[in-house]
Amino acid sequence: DERMILQFQITLYGDDERLVMARDITRLHRLEEMRRDFVANVSHELRTPLTVLAGYLETYGDMAEQLPPRLARGLQQMQSQTTRMQNLVNDLLLLSRLENDQGGQDDARLDPASLLETVRRDAEALSGGHHRIEVEVTETRGLLGSEKELHSAVSNLAFNAVRYAGEDCHIVLRWRPCRDGACLDVEDDGEGIDPLHIPRLTERFYRVDKGRSTATGGTGLGLAIVKHVLLRHDARLEIDSRPGEGATFRCVFPAGRLVDDRPQVDCRRA
Ligand code: ADP
Repeated sequence: DERMILQFQITLYGDDERLVMARDITRLHRLEEMRRDFVANVSHELRTPLTVLAGYLETYGDMAEQLPPRLARGLQQMQSQTTRMQNLVNDLLLLSRLENDQGGQDDARLDPASLLETVRRDAEALSGGHHRIEVEVTETRGLLGSEKELHSAVSNLAFNAVRYAGEDCHIVLRWRPCRDGACLDVEDDGEGIDPLHIPRLTERFYRVDKGRSTATGGTGLGLAIVKHVLLRHDARLEIDSRPGEGATFRCVFPAGRLVDDRPQVDCRRA
């Protein structure tokens, strides 16, 4: 379509002077759209061959005991790298869906307390008992949002705490009132993050320690997904951390997203 996209910047000088600048960003916008479509198409096309590969590898995996050790090790490597690629493709697809559509289609009245409890259980399974994980709820209101998207965002934050905080840490998943509305915090008392990295953490593929992140099974897209899910819920992500003093990832939801009466959707999962 032939729409032109303009970006305006208004600068105030004193009480009665304004400087208005208009920039034609039509081309930039188109390029961004092409990038999104390309990523979405490639990820989609990669899904089927990866599923076929994973299927064969699983069948051969059942025969690993009969293989010479070197081949069995190779097979194991192929399996883990295929799983990594599948996670990457799934996260890329999820991210482009979050960027491309408006959101709001599956918004419902949610019960954050049960959502946090579900995530706590999954995080505990991932942690294998190496962390103390707790849920704290002091906000009684529910949340208007997409259960699937918020589950994915909170899981990413909680799994990151398990992966990066270090062993024997205390992790708290919290739903509490805050100045702007209500906050959903994921807090750990682990290794923390150098402030230098914090502004870039939500960029795609940005990692503090690439080697370690790959070893823990991360795709580098987790916090980008969190940021986009929150944007679709009129919410924002705040990150507080200092090396050696843990990290807090705070999802701030505006009052307009809160619902007073009892939420209808219980987010507990089997
Ligand atoms: P991934 O985990 O796949 O690398 P993310 O976008 O989820 O990608 O996270 C980006 C980086 O932020 C991680 O690689 C890690 O270095 C850092 N990080 C995230 N959460 C924590 C945390 N709770 N404590 C310390 N570092 C963290």
